Amino acid sequence: MNYHDILARIQEEVLPLSNKGKVADYIPQLAKVDPSKFGMYLHLLNGQSYAVGDWEERFSIQSISKVLMLCMAVSKLGEKVYERVNVEPSGDPFNSLVQLEYERGIPRNPFINAGALVITDMLIDAFNDPKQSFLDFTRAVSGHLDVQCNPAVAESERRCGFKNSAIVNLMKSFGNIKNEVDRVLDLYYDFCSVDMNCQQLAQAFCLIANHGRGIVNDQKYLSESQFKRITAIMMTCGFYDEAGEFAFKVGLPGKSGVGGGIIAILPNEFSLAVWSPGLNEKGNSLVGMKALEIFTTQTACSIF
Ligand code: GLN
Repeated sequence: MNYHDILARIQEEVLPLSNKGKVADYIPQLAKVDPSKFGMYLHLLNGQSYAVGDWEERFSIQSISKVLMLCMAVSKLGEKVYERVNVEPSGDPFNSLVQLEYERGIPRNPFINAGALVITDMLIDAFNDPKQSFLDFTRAVSGHLDVQCNPAVAESERRCGFKNSAIVNLMKSFGNIKNEVDRVLDLYYDFCSVDMNCQQLAQAFCLIANHGRGIVNDQKYLSESQFKRITAIMMTCGFYDEAGEFAFKVGLPGKSGVGGGIIAILPNEFSLAVWSPGLNEKGNSLVGMKALEIFTTQTACSIF
């Protein structure tokens, strides 16, 4: 397969669409990003890699960090994680409060904000210095020791995170948040603020493509069953109320973030990161989704 040509053709085809999406502006710091950026990085588990566009430029991974948070929580705490968070698609926007009240403070899944905030609460109890442990974990699995949180992005979200405050407070009222509300929010914003480029993201997510075993240090972080479950949640819940559309058009387990990044994996084969900051109305990268759709159509590489 000539991945080099395929990526080049994808870039050519999607670039005219880059003004169609809208950069997230509810976090003021993210609104400053140039919407014409586009990068893609494919890392095959056989060690080969292919890249196109702005793949070296770092961006805010935002909700993509929710998968890394879940991996950390599950590898430390095991399956009891799923006692406080469900595993059903929400069919609602990532920051919705509606279901949470009906369902008595138990989030639909770990990849909407409510779910990730509960996971953050668990990580506070499970690690002495959860922010440092998260960075250590992300650096270890990606093989990039310079991965950092972005304090300006975290602070920007902290100042405008009214919805997230409401979500944590509602869950606290149902007894599903154990720590101080502000402590949970602060740490969640730090996790979301991590900057990575397409290469770092693709290499980090080889952890999932490789059944929970890090490709850099060969460490087994997730059991087979834990790997299977996390991949299933990516497939069914990785794109909020567009998870069905992503499965339909792309056919890979993945996760998006409002920074415009998307990670998609094919178990045993590859990890593929794409970045384009303009979002569609569901909060997923418009060009990123299109690029992945073209990739799986042209290569016939999907889980189906
Ligand atoms: N930090 C963002 C928030 O909480 C993450 C949302 C996202 O990437 N979808 O709103």
